[in-house]
Amino acid sequence: MSIVVKDLVKSYGSNKVVHAISFSLEQGEFVGLLGPSGCGKTTTLRCIAGLEDANGGTISIEGEVVSDPANGIMRPAHSRNVGMVFQSYAIWPHMTVAQNVGFPLTIRKMGKKEVAERVDWALGIVGMQELAARLPSQLSGGQQQRVALARAVVGQPRVLLFDEPLSNLDAKLRDATRAEIRRLQRQLNIAAIYVTHDQAEALSMSDRVIVMDRGHIMQEGPPKDLYRRPANRFVADFVGVASFVEVMPTDDSLAWRTPDGTTIRVAEPAPATSAGGAMQLMVRPEAALLSPASAAPAGDGRNVLPGRIVEASYLGSHTEYVVEMGGSRVRIHSGDDLEHESDVIVSFAPTDAQLIPISRD
Ligand code: ADP
Ligand code: MG
Repeated sequence: MSIVVKDLVKSYGSNKVVHAISFSLEQGEFVGLLGPSGCGKTTTLRCIAGLEDANGGTISIEGEVVSDPANGIMRPAHSRNVGMVFQSYAIWPHMTVAQNVGFPLTIRKMGKKEVAERVDWALGIVGMQELAARLPSQLSGGQQQRVALARAVVGQPRVLLFDEPLSNLDAKLRDATRAEIRRLQRQLNIAAIYVTHDQAEALSMSDRVIVMDRGHIMQEGPPKDLYRRPANRFVADFVGVASFVEVMPTDDSLAWRTPDGTTIRVAEPAPATSAGGAMQLMVRPEAALLSPASAAPAGDGRNVLPGRIVEASYLGSHTEYVVEMGGSRVRIHSGDDLEHESDVIVSFAPTDAQLIPISRD
């Protein structure tokens, strides 16, 4: 394992912001740490980097314990050999590109020739060799972020940590830089943790995503698992757009009843923890099909429910409709033009209907 975090606790005064979380990364794995602002992502990352002292639990990097406050172990940041990239690029305005990239090596008192070689290698990785003599003020935002990337890898770190590194770039450049970061991380074949509050970024980049809320891990897994099988309402809502219909159990564990008496079939029974009670049935907006009420009902064992369009927002590639169905309002995406306030048929496959326990808060 490249990084092992076990029961990590961090408090600021009496305010506990990380509640005994545990996770680990294998060599070469790219893990997204996703959650709303203030949930403890940066704090977790800074504890791993050694920029914050943890209050409890242990952190190991490549088998070496770098943080274990209960046993008096707290390795300083510079000896953890971690590469870190921040949202603010944190590059020095008075230093050239080469001087900025070489800075972590210069403070380690490495010889000039070796620094020059390593800087050249790091700039090569981000495609910035020709701009080595420029000052940051002569660079675009994207180029400045590449300097920060080169500086993060120049010391050949054991792991890479990213904290919302693309938030200051415009949308097009963000896409290109995402791909660049993945390419670089694959090339170096080291573990990376990528902090973001942007679910699309986390899903598109990560081998695995860890979803955090209020200092706790809510779920972790490959992007498709999180999207298709969220463990709870928080993850369902945070990872993509989701609609929910409250349903009650029937004698058949694969058939559930809406408040208005319609039966909906699901592909998998409810999680054992919530047996017996009401559940929320989640449907993703692209998983349901809308057709005019006059159309023939869908076959293939699909669920078919009558509904009524109450809102429509045209979004270019599709229209987002809000449909009243089964006593709830659901959001459904469709490429078809359907009439506002018209009666429709909503259909979706049992495999696209996911049962989720009703949250207590
Ligand atoms: P995120 O990166 O997920 O947005 P942070 O890890 O920055 O969240 O913050 C988690 C919580 O810790 C927040 O409530 C924040 O206000 C608090 N916090 C962060 N840094 C400090 C600090 N230096 N002193 C006190 N509270 C802090
Ligand atoms: Mg943060």
